[in-house]
Amino acid sequence: MYDFLIVGAGLTGTVLARELTDAGKKCLVIDRRDHIAGNCYTQNISGINVHKYGAHIFHTDDEQVWNYVGRFAKFNNYINSPIAIFHDEIYNLPFNMNTFAKMWNVATPAQAREIIEKQKAEAAIDGEPKNLEEQALSLVGKDIFEKLIKEYTEKQWGRDCKELPADIIKRLPVRYTYDNNYFNHRFQGIPEGGYTAMVEKMLDGIEVKTGVSFSQVDLSGFKHVIYTGPVDEYFDFRLGQLEWRSVRFETELLEGEPNWQGNAVVNYTSHDVPYTRIIEHKHFEFGKDSNGNELPDTVISREYSAAWKPGDEPYYPVNDEKNNAFYAEYAKLAESEEKVTFAGRLGTYKYYDMAPCIRAALDLAEKLLQKQEQK
Ligand code: UDP
Repeated sequence: MYDFLIVGAGLTGTVLARELTDAGKKCLVIDRRDHIAGNCYTQNISGINVHKYGAHIFHTDDEQVWNYVGRFAKFNNYINSPIAIFHDEIYNLPFNMNTFAKMWNVATPAQAREIIEKQKAEAAIDGEPKNLEEQALSLVGKDIFEKLIKEYTEKQWGRDCKELPADIIKRLPVRYTYDNNYFNHRFQGIPEGGYTAMVEKMLDGIEVKTGVSFSQVDLSGFKHVIYTGPVDEYFDFRLGQLEWRSVRFETELLEGEPNWQGNAVVNYTSHDVPYTRIIEHKHFEFGKDSNGNELPDTVISREYSAAWKPGDEPYYPVNDEKNNAFYAEYAKLAESEEKVTFAGRLGTYKYYDMAPCIRAALDLAEKLLQKQEQK
């Protein structure tokens, strides 16, 4: 008899498996894909750790989480500094003095503020921003909204910026300093050798079966199930389908090309380019292999966003009001499943980054252990 069946070998499932195993519980981890590490899975191609399911940059203020991942991998000092291309114009992200200087030929924070304040006043937003468009206009004004946010966001989410929650754009810093660091967090980096190696270490000594889906498992052998797959799928879409965004990648190995775009992440913020961004993976590890040698080739991935349909991989929950209310109905069903706990981005319909995922998994492990003790 196992104590736990953990469905999904992504970060959430893996951290739970580690914590519960270390507390003496017997766990089996399954994943329907043929590999571990969920969406942070990396595959080595021509010496480059390719982020197969999109760029994953670790960033957090949570020192405990940072120390936790540090047990399983050495993190490099990569700092994410994407650039954005709008037609023939190139801008720095996130929105900072470099962006403002290029956009308006200003030099000081006061000059940038004056323009943004003027554009904000012209937008005449009444009270708290009610949607992503209003939020963006009040943070950075009309020019930046139109060149760097509007069309990118519409490609990414498949809907008008007025129909999206303000929260999505609150992820991005706005800074009146010349600082291109995309994140405000104290700790940031990429695990040397890739995420797959890190997750492998996390799962050391734990029974894992890949290529096995939940429906294939006889649940009688488990005291409890932790399910990190899509919550609506668990219930056979009984209430209908939650909306997800899916992503498709076109990945290319460019042999003999040492440096194709000069940056790990380049966003294409205009509608006429069908993809949202291009990732050049080698730059996450400074273009070098594990011995510090320059790599001769490169791998790039064009990222296309699409509405999710059955058979696709769900990536992003669409956390607008309608879907959140709908999820609340699924959450009620989930709560009534005594033997099952739902977790992770897919299991709880939350736009989690990696670090918050780990935080939530650590807290959940503690809660589950306390519960079992009480029994
Ligand atoms: N965004 C944007 N322009 C950009 C990059 C991001 O308008 O060049 C907006 C967009 O709405 C996106 C959100 O900011 O969905 C969050 O972007 P981020 O890169 O943090 O999201 P990720 O897809 O990496 O989770």
